[in-house]
Amino acid sequence: MMQRPVSGRTRVYGILGDPVAHSLSPAMQNAAFAALGIDAIYVPFPVRAEGLAATIAGLHAAGVAGLNVTVPHKEAAAALCTRLAPRARACGAANTLVRTPGGFAGDNTDGDGLLAALRAQRFAPRSARVLLVGAGGSARSVAHAFARAGVEELVVANRTPARAAALVRSLGRRGARAAGLDVLADAATLAALDLVVNCTSASLADGALPALPRIGRPGRLLACDLMYGKPSRFLTQARAAGCRVMDGRGMLLHQGALAFTLWTRRPAPVAAMRRALGRALAAR
Ligand code: NDP
Repeated sequence: MMQRPVSGRTRVYGILGDPVAHSLSPAMQNAAFAALGIDAIYVPFPVRAEGLAATIAGLHAAGVAGLNVTVPHKEAAAALCTRLAPRARACGAANTLVRTPGGFAGDNTDGDGLLAALRAQRFAPRSARVLLVGAGGSARSVAHAFARAGVEELVVANRTPARAAALVRSLGRRGARAAGLDVLADAATLAALDLVVNCTSASLADGALPALPRIGRPGRLLACDLMYGKPSRFLTQARAAGCRVMDGRGMLLHQGALAFTLWTRRPAPVAAMRRALGRALAAR
């Protein structure tokens, strides 16, 4: 891929995180700018929590056009935005900052990124019955996106039950309920589901999540893990239980594509971004 030369007019975008060196977003977003011939560059900014406010204010003062935000800053970044899109306000976290004259406006494309990835796999969220595991930042974004998409049933299971209950309350809708992690081993509940999504960071920890029991009709239940890059224990067990499986790279791709469109107001070159993501993952 040809890299455009950086000039005095090149627009600067970036990602804030701690750590951020592992991020695949620079490869994906720079490929998108190159594919559309946009004079822009996307760079990683490693930022400690105590420096976040000064960094965001400074990058705005320096003319930075847009930012992504990753772990652990999404909640703090939302609080530093001059305004929030409804989906960012609903989950109290921002993963995309869009430049406005007075500061950055915050948005959150994580949940809709997962929905786009599911639709790309021909999974229709509307009227689906979903078990969402986790109640942290990504789970909140995903849960609100599922609620907006009109899922019929949403069960939120979490290690800390109070967090699952709080997430369900924040959804303010019928058809959502909280549960403990033991629901993952409950064959009767699983038999009635269309989708189970692991939004925890427990994917690499042995035994952190109960293994799914063998499901009745192989291939009917789709299991998704937000983690990507390495085969997760959750998906390995889900495949053994008879589920179709999907990792988090599609969500990563589509949350980035949605952010690209928010910044540039242009449709994202998804195929070029997917190829760049594949190359960056293979080079890891
Ligand atoms: P948070 O730290 O906000 O939440 C972590 C969640 O994992 C909580 O629900 C926590 O439960 C649970 N958890 C952590 N350890 C364990 C354990 N040992 N056993 C059971 N539950 C556990 O993380 P995020 O929501 O930001 O991220 C979660 C995952 O999603 C990460 O792996 C991240 O990389 C991935 N992700 C992927 C994205 C993509 O684009 N594909 C986008 C965003 C995130 P408790 O409440 O009890 O502490």
